Amino acid sequence: MTLGFTLPDRFGSQALGGCYAPETLLQPLLDLEAAFRSALDDPAYVAELKSELRHFVGRPTPLTPAPRLAAQLGLKALFLKREDLTHTGAHKINNALAQALLAKRMGKHEIIAETGAGQHGVATAAACARLGLSCTVYMGVTDMARQAPNVARMRLFGAKVEPVEAGQGTLKEAVNEALRAWAARCDRAHYILGSALGPHPFPTLVRTFQTVIGEEARAQILEQAGTLPEVVIACAGGGSNGLGLLVPFLGDSLRRVAVEAGGHGPELGEHAARLDGGRLGVLHGCKTLLLQDDHGHTAETASISAGLDYPALGPELAALILDGQVEVRRASDEEALTGARLLCEAEGILPALESSHALALLPSLAAEGAATVLLGLSGRGDKDLSTYQSRSGL
Ligand SMILES: *Cc1c(COP(=O)(O)O)cnc(C)c1O
Repeated sequence: MTLGFTLPDRFGSQALGGCYAPETLLQPLLDLEAAFRSALDDPAYVAELKSELRHFVGRPTPLTPAPRLAAQLGLKALFLKREDLTHTGAHKINNALAQALLAKRMGKHEIIAETGAGQHGVATAAACARLGLSCTVYMGVTDMARQAPNVARMRLFGAKVEPVEAGQGTLKEAVNEALRAWAARCDRAHYILGSALGPHPFPTLVRTFQTVIGEEARAQILEQAGTLPEVVIACAGGGSNGLGLLVPFLGDSLRRVAVEAGGHGPELGEHAARLDGGRLGVLHGCKTLLLQDDHGHTAETASISAGLDYPALGPELAALILDGQVEVRRASDEEALTGARLLCEAEGILPALESSHALALLPSLAAEGAATVLLGLSGRGDKDLSTYQSRSGL
């Protein structure tokens, strides 16, 4: 591609990623790449980001040993990287805040974002309030109905929530609408994409802002345990918390595992496990592993966790999986619920349903002989209380 990008826009042996964007967005994407590169080289930007991550987000997040759960499962040690303890309750804020600071630096005071479950929308709305930026969040009508508390949170932070009626009224349609809105207003607006997805440079940008998770965790576990774990594991929707945790461990000889949503069955439409059912395709500006039907139409997906319920896996994580650097597993809705109960009862921590998919794999890892595990707890479960209540008969 001769678009004049300076960062690599393709990942792995299959050249995933790329920049499949409408012509109107090419210049804004080039500008974004340039601004991103210059920000990372600017000590003032880096210092402001660090300070906000510390004083607003609550970083570094703790690495919590989970000795009771480890003993119960037959593991020697289990460590939890606590993104659930960040402000707004999930890792999304790391990226939302960093991109909001970048927008400000670019002189863009209008922010556009998409959201599915509402976690990225809430994080973006909070970052915009903090930095004095105006914020519009596109959200499918189905998601607005089932995530009403997050709609209220965004509005409390002064954000405008735009209902998206198209299609299933979920995340895929919200991204379409946000990209359309950005194309119309890109002279003054910045689009904060919520996962390691979309056209270049978004996958690289989001991954870069999320690797703080793994960088902290790697130093913390070396300090606390004196050694690296045998397995590092995270859940994977678009792939941002997974990449954030796993990328800093790519040079180490250990198992890196990403867990996808197995939903309620193996058929297309019953899950969001892109590796088993997915084929290469293009969605939302990048080439990656995508759930699609025989005609190449993007398939419907299902998962108990809204954050994992997306038909495409981010291109960089997909490339790491296809090239053998990261293993992929799946956990069903039921297994995720069981995983959540294990952590609640053994350690007094309520995980997000997304993170529970990684917890669900722990018994298998123990059975496969793993002794020490580092698990990314991507978010807290308060947003999922009504699901836990209805599905667990509480
Ligand atoms: C959004 C979300 C995810 C999935 O997104 P990734 O980009 O794959 O990290 C996982 N956990 C939580 C708590 C989320 O809010």
